[in-house]
Amino acid sequence: MIHNPEIECMSREDMRKLQSERLQKTVKTCYENVPFYKRKMDEMGVKPEDIKSIDDIVKLPFTTKHDLRDEYPFGLQAVPQSEIRRIHASSGTTGKPVVGTYTENDLKMWAECVARVLAVGDVGPGDIVQVAYGYGLFTGGLGAHDGAALRGAIQLPTSSGNSEKQTMLMKDFGTTALCCTPSYALHLAEVIEKNPDIKPEDLKLRVGFFGAEPWTWGIRRELEKKLHLKAIDIYGLTEMCGPGVGGECQFQNGTHVAEDMFYPEIINPETLEPVAPGEEGELVFTSLCKEAMPILRYRTRDLTHLIYEPCECGRTSVRLGKILGRSDDMLIIRGVNVFPSQIETVLTEFPVFTPQYFITVDRKNNEDTFDLDVELRAEYFSPNPSKQMPFIKPLYDRIVSMVGIKPNIHIKEPGNIERSIGKAKHVLDKRTLLADWK
Ligand code: ADP
Ligand code: ZN
Repeated sequence: MIHNPEIECMSREDMRKLQSERLQKTVKTCYENVPFYKRKMDEMGVKPEDIKSIDDIVKLPFTTKHDLRDEYPFGLQAVPQSEIRRIHASSGTTGKPVVGTYTENDLKMWAECVARVLAVGDVGPGDIVQVAYGYGLFTGGLGAHDGAALRGAIQLPTSSGNSEKQTMLMKDFGTTALCCTPSYALHLAEVIEKNPDIKPEDLKLRVGFFGAEPWTWGIRRELEKKLHLKAIDIYGLTEMCGPGVGGECQFQNGTHVAEDMFYPEIINPETLEPVAPGEEGELVFTSLCKEAMPILRYRTRDLTHLIYEPCECGRTSVRLGKILGRSDDMLIIRGVNVFPSQIETVLTEFPVFTPQYFITVDRKNNEDTFDLDVELRAEYFSPNPSKQMPFIKPLYDRIVSMVGIKPNIHIKEPGNIERSIGKAKHVLDKRTLLADWK
């Protein structure tokens, strides 16, 4: 089901017109109300009048996470405090968090873009939407919550954690849609598996909206099989609003961007020039109708490509390809670039392993070490190393050929690798810890 066909199926020409109008307005607001943008635009010699259509976006300055931190907390705000209705912040693993503020209208637009994704799973009145993203400063919980409300569905705000109770309610209440990170969904699937009182086929789950972190096709297959649902990818970031900046349709072939609200570009992160259409690079977003904190050309650091071909579903918006990860998730090990998602892709090709993994990178005797913890499923597990070998060898060979790096693989007992209730942490890079000390 399409939530807002007028916008989501708009002709490309009309969409560009709408984007051009909204960009002009956004740039004018930024120039007049946000000293940071006035300064940046003056430095580049760009005036709001120079922006006549969406194609002129390339004349505008970029915004980086660094800029947001410098302007912490409210430096980029374009409206007085009295217009603000809510404040969120991203986890901000190091230093100050990134802050997002919202006017009444911003909250409405955000709910609208989440509702568009939920509509893909026909979520509406009578549906129970279990929101197991964390509620709080993190945008996941309240974002999904407001989207479900706009669809007229029943909101079940379980937040993340408390997994036994979570799965009990899922069964007893008859949850039909689940929203959480894919890693937490995996964990919930395991909790269900261990509970003799709950059979996945007895659950009423129909669809899951999973996002907030990169996940691979292997994880999707695992979730769809174990939870008996259709797994839909939902993408977003605090800097734009939160979840809902984009979402997959039922064809699961790319993430439709809410292009009337967020204009995507892909740039080469080195030259900062736009890449050729369809080429891989860094995703950049400009907000087109945010009032509280409009953002020009925000460098997300997410690496992906844009798909311009029309989609079978009838939506006309451009789609994001699967996100490989953030440029800062990339590990350089013995000179080879490695994304955790590449390891995940290879690992999930092997049904004998659970999809859980943990990478430890270190430096010993002037050489990088790469340790990979994986778990054999209970039916294959043995503590005897000679019994583990036949499983390790094929995984090792495949990683060497696909990723180009030789791992030290360690088999763990099922359940031994730490599970996450929010965004999973797959990597410990001890080299950066050492660097921090210097
Ligand atoms: P934080 O920076 O603390 O993680 P956010 O919650 O704002 O805060 O995270 C946004 C980021 O999460 C995105 O830039 C992207 O890297 C990642 N992300 C969100 N949704 C997805 C998704 N569906 N697939 C891949 N990555 C995602
Ligand atoms: Zn589609």
